[in-house]
Amino acid sequence: MPTPPTVQAQAQALRELIEHHARRYYALDAPEIPDAEYDRLFRALQDLEAAHPELRTPDSPTQRVLGQALQGFAPVAHAVPMLSIRTETDTSDAGALEFDARIRRELGLSVQDPPVRYSCELKFDGLAISLRYEQGVLVQAATRGDGETGEDVTQNIRTIRQIPLRLQSRDGTCPPLLEVRGEVYMRRDDFEALNERQRTLIAAGHRQEKTFVNPRNAAAGAVRQLDPAIAARRPLSFFAYGLGQVQGWADPTGQGPATHSAVLQALASWGLPVDAHHRVVEGGAGLVAFHQDIERLRDRLPFDIDGVVYKVDDRATQDRLGFVTREPRWAVAHKYPAQEQMTVLRAIDIQVGRTGKLTPVAKLEPVFVGGTTVSNATLHNEEEARRKDVREGDTVIVRRAGDVIPEVVSVVLERRPASVGAPFDLVQRLSGRCPVCASPIAREEGEVDWRCTGGLYCPAQRKHALLHFASRRAVDIEAWATRSWNSWWTSGS
Ligand SMILES: [Zn+2]
Repeated sequence: MPTPPTVQAQAQALRELIEHHARRYYALDAPEIPDAEYDRLFRALQDLEAAHPELRTPDSPTQRVLGQALQGFAPVAHAVPMLSIRTETDTSDAGALEFDARIRRELGLSVQDPPVRYSCELKFDGLAISLRYEQGVLVQAATRGDGETGEDVTQNIRTIRQIPLRLQSRDGTCPPLLEVRGEVYMRRDDFEALNERQRTLIAAGHRQEKTFVNPRNAAAGAVRQLDPAIAARRPLSFFAYGLGQVQGWADPTGQGPATHSAVLQALASWGLPVDAHHRVVEGGAGLVAFHQDIERLRDRLPFDIDGVVYKVDDRATQDRLGFVTREPRWAVAHKYPAQEQMTVLRAIDIQVGRTGKLTPVAKLEPVFVGGTTVSNATLHNEEEARRKDVREGDTVIVRRAGDVIPEVVSVVLERRPASVGAPFDLVQRLSGRCPVCASPIAREEGEVDWRCTGGLYCPAQRKHALLHFASRRAVDIEAWATRSWNSWWTSGS
């Protein structure tokens, strides 16, 4: 039966949309939509192609590892391809149990057989990198690219202090040729500090500077920065999690340890940073427990993760399971709820802080992001709100990660309605007056923030000053004071 023309057109439209967003994401480090939305588009195309296999073309985005080499870096052919891991988007326990059931099925195990052992790790939200060590010396660093060919980013990677330029192998166990696979990422505190610095630069007149959408984009942008001096100023970190090409492993088999967890130990023993949360567990119940434990930790981790990774620990069993298209059958990435989502910005309010600082706050259609429902997000300051061109009625991307205040990271321009509000103008909005005490507002030369000039005459500042004072006292006093002052101010007396 011929494919209905509407379905064909639908597939074509999805492909073009996915290619467009993939290019924004991978080649330009400037995504327009959150990952969760991209995943939805990708799944829609996969579903469509599954229902109509004749639609599946070799150039469909579903048929290749996305990401293209940029102009400007020398290409590096990966001796062992850098494959991507299949993603399980069912964020519930079922995602873990389903993976274990599939592994058992493929290994032909019955209920009487013992549980499979898995190495469980965090799924870092950064940029995959392959490091090549010859005789223990770092000779090359390459991005994943399309999985077969990446970019030579050695110069930039050498500026990351956590990456050893020479491996420590006093016992001589380090293979003469060793490729280490891992993730370059940016810690959340480093990301916040970088963006704060960028905002200051922009306010000081450096209009060509920009703030970054999230730590991953900041990290990816730094790694692919053509000027290593700029890359060196971006605070990057690294975790090792696997192997590429290896030759001459000095053990009886020549292949290295029998398990993936022992490989991680070996990498750590040579001075490579390996995240301490990895754990070996048994069976589906072990996977579920790991997924839950890390989800509880997620907000307190110093870096973003978007899930955990399960790998069959026994390397011989990994080989037996092999690959399907370009994904290993023995591993899966089990996601958590996304830290970025799209929603509609209903209005922009202005909040008065303890120091009189006026902060524009986005009032949002409530949206579930980073594991909680968010209806307010900061826009930081007027400069930032204008630069992002955030307007009432816009569809925006909201990010909430860790205990950082939720923020509006960008506008989805293609969804801007005709009835959208005017560009944000703080002074005009407030008619130049503090919304709480009506004192004039002012902005110092070279500052990004407008402030209320009312000082302690301004109830907002008085309230926050008292709360601030109380919070420095013992916990019970703080609790008492907070309750008292809250009721004091809300009662209006
Ligand atoms: Zn005021």
